[in-house]
Amino acid sequence: MTPEEILKEIKESKLGLIDFIHQKSLALLSKDEELKLNAFRFVDVFPSLRSSSEVSKILRAYLSAPLNRTYPILGKLLKLGTITGISLVTKFFASWGITILASKVIAGRTAKDAIPKLKSILDSGQGFTVDLLGEYCVSEKEAEVYKDRYLEVLNSLSKKFTPGKDRPGVPLCISVKLSALYSQTDYLNFDKSVEVISLRAKEIVARAEEVGAQVYIDAEDTATNQIIYAVFEKLFCQDFPKIKYPGIVLQCYLKDSLNTFNRLKDIAVKRGSPIAVRLVKGAYWDVERALAIQNGFDIPVFESKKETDRNFEVLSDKLVENSDYFLPGFAGHNLFSLSYGINLAKQKGINFEVQTLYGMADTLSNALSKRGVFVRQYVPIGELIPGMGYLVRRLVENTSNEGFLRSLWDV
Ligand SMILES: Cc1cc2nc3c(=O)[nH]c(=O)nc-3n(C[C@H](O)[C@H](O)[C@H](O)COP(=O)(O)OP(=O)(O)OC[C@H]3O[C@@H](n4cnc5c(N)ncnc54)[C@H](O)[C@@H]3O)c2cc1C
Repeated sequence: MTPEEILKEIKESKLGLIDFIHQKSLALLSKDEELKLNAFRFVDVFPSLRSSSEVSKILRAYLSAPLNRTYPILGKLLKLGTITGISLVTKFFASWGITILASKVIAGRTAKDAIPKLKSILDSGQGFTVDLLGEYCVSEKEAEVYKDRYLEVLNSLSKKFTPGKDRPGVPLCISVKLSALYSQTDYLNFDKSVEVISLRAKEIVARAEEVGAQVYIDAEDTATNQIIYAVFEKLFCQDFPKIKYPGIVLQCYLKDSLNTFNRLKDIAVKRGSPIAVRLVKGAYWDVERALAIQNGFDIPVFESKKETDRNFEVLSDKLVENSDYFLPGFAGHNLFSLSYGINLAKQKGINFEVQTLYGMADTLSNALSKRGVFVRQYVPIGELIPGMGYLVRRLVENTSNEGFLRSLWDV
């Protein structure tokens, strides 16, 4: 299987109407950096805007200058949109556009809403892992609600999808963002963070075990990751040492990722059974870099994309070499990085999977699945407002100059 052959298939595949609108609008925005960034800022604040005049005002403030420069006709239309009456139409179109963008990458507001989409993923021979949108939380009440929502997702999905025996996490798998389980998650509050998050996560894992679901723990920013790995170790070495294939994430953009790899191997050794590792490049590159510079810390991430790409290959090697301890899940949409891991794992004849984000690379997921690779889609569920952070990260990723996805389009 060569990446070139799959790339050809992806480029030749026909896009549905929504995909076409989605891709073309992102391509149009990407023509001007300020236009793109301000459009994403608008998406971010949109849920908090109440009236149509507010929508028009903010749209104008953010987009007037870049639109007049890049697409003057649209700039004139935007100016027109401030007139009362027409501003209602502007709000309608803004809302419609954002809903289309969101529905492309978020499967539904509730687990129940998402069931038809989850079912169609399983019917196509792929798997899923469900993620509940909502990142940092600001109160203990919110943290409890987030935990209860996971319990509810497990209850409702387990009624629909009975556990199978074929492979871990099929049909049911969830991905959890631990920082949302405690309002005071902070590296400076390390012990308490580990204690409280472990207690809440324990309830989720216990329920997952009852219904036969696999659990992945997502990786976040470097400081939070220290808490995350400590909780992971506590949960799956002390509380649930016998649970099969608990999942964790390893980020290749981090300079110390090899140390993390070794730490994860120690955990697998301690448990006496393998863990599932989702290998990613890392979603917080700009934030990690900016925060380190702002605070005068060493920058924890590689500063050239090539180094991150190379490290993805190094860690793919490590995971495959150590297949007694790990079930590798090569994650991302960069065909070249994924092919590296896939070919390596195939040569060694080990069990592995590929993981992609729901709605981000359907043609890629289908092309790999058609070639016998097991693909698991990471499927977010939730309301639009808590989902904005996720949506904006996906938009940035889709349009990043260095990103692989953008190279697939006609920009
Ligand atoms: C199923 C799935 C689950 C995921 N879960 C997580 C998670 O739990 N935690 C998490 O952090 N991320 C997660 N991600 C996101 C992932 O880390 C990547 O951001 C995303 O997949 C893009 O990487 P790529 O290989 O697909 O694309 P590419 O375009 O090849 O790579 C883009 C990535 O390269 C890196 N990069 C970009 N510019 C530079 C630079 N100048 N120097 C160094 N590195 C650079 C960044 O990591 C960027 O995301 C997940 C992705 C998938 C598909």
